[in-house]
Amino acid sequence: MKLDCKIKIQDRQRTNGSSTLKAAKGVVGLAKSNNDEWVLVVRLFKDTNATQYKLRDNIQALLHRCINNGMATIQIKMPPHDVQLCEANVESLKTLLSSVRLASTGSNLPSSIKSISINAVEKLQRPALQLIVNQAIDYPTLKGFPSTLEKLIINAAHLRAPVDRRIFTLKNLHTLDLSDNNITELPSGIQMNHLHTLIIRSNQLKSFPNDIKCPMLKHLDLSQNQLEKFNVALLNISTLERLNLSSNKIKFIPRIILRVLPQLQVFNIASNLVRVIPNSIASGGTRLHTFHYDDNPLATEKMITCKRFNTTLLEIALRVVIKYRIPYDFKSIPRTLCLLLDEYETCAHCASACFIRFGEIIVPKQLSAIGVTVHVTAANQSFAVPVQERYCSIKCFNYGLRRAGMIQM
Ligand SMILES: [Zn+2]
Repeated sequence: MKLDCKIKIQDRQRTNGSSTLKAAKGVVGLAKSNNDEWVLVVRLFKDTNATQYKLRDNIQALLHRCINNGMATIQIKMPPHDVQLCEANVESLKTLLSSVRLASTGSNLPSSIKSISINAVEKLQRPALQLIVNQAIDYPTLKGFPSTLEKLIINAAHLRAPVDRRIFTLKNLHTLDLSDNNITELPSGIQMNHLHTLIIRSNQLKSFPNDIKCPMLKHLDLSQNQLEKFNVALLNISTLERLNLSSNKIKFIPRIILRVLPQLQVFNIASNLVRVIPNSIASGGTRLHTFHYDDNPLATEKMITCKRFNTTLLEIALRVVIKYRIPYDFKSIPRTLCLLLDEYETCAHCASACFIRFGEIIVPKQLSAIGVTVHVTAANQSFAVPVQERYCSIKCFNYGLRRAGMIQM
């Protein structure tokens, strides 16, 4: 049998338990030696030769506390080596350890365990981890993609919708870059559990799939596309740290963006059609540290955009649900109320929730004052952004007007 995983071999006498060696990709397996005894064969892909360890009466311990995470250590007596395995298939690792245990006592192994050929192991090639396609002619249309790929870059290859589904079945992919193609839409049902970087810059995307599932996605680049709105699907990727939506046609930034994307650190909305910035971006207390907003038709005047204070029973009820954190879902209250509750904005003065009845003003605000680095390229553009501030009551609204130097009601 053989098992692909990451391997680190540590000499217990030399390293005293602490080593700076990194685990490297390799193969570990069981083979029968010339005198019909089982040996453990270990080969790192970076080395040409495989190392063999006798197993009978030569195992000091098997450390398997983390076996369900694909990790285990086989301690050999002579030479005094620790063979540390990680990122292994859990079932195969369990089979390997139980076989090593049997072989160390001299017992027979089950007939399902076949001996590997040491020669074949030494001839194994390092699995392909990265593929870069820079022109259409290099696209592996017939051959397909190696399933071991971790990084796939397909640039300027005239890709268009429907995009080759095989790309989205690569289970180990952590980086996918499909920049400079003609993609108008991505397929639905994308699920990539290891993907942390997705770059679809310079395409013709008009939308983003609602059902994308990438639980590790940190960096998403959809710049230079045809997006006309900030897709709600983006608000479901709560792991996002860097989001680039520059050079699209987006008019509004959702007010709840930093509440639902709490990890967001860098946000680029430059070269869109945005007129105002939601107060949540300008109120601090988030991880956001860099905000690109240049080249947008930003409002330049202070203004009052809403003044609705005749409080309704609905408004009071919704505010109470938020204030006392009363749990709600589609089963307990109507769907429209759930959607309203998801989208509340907090009062810029007293921080209570506002839904339908509120006052709203647009005022310039310096983002640098709350520790956000802003990026402006146009020489005539100010560092102050027009921020949309909401106030829950006439009292709070008057406070906001006074602070903004506007006339009181
Ligand atoms: Zn208030």
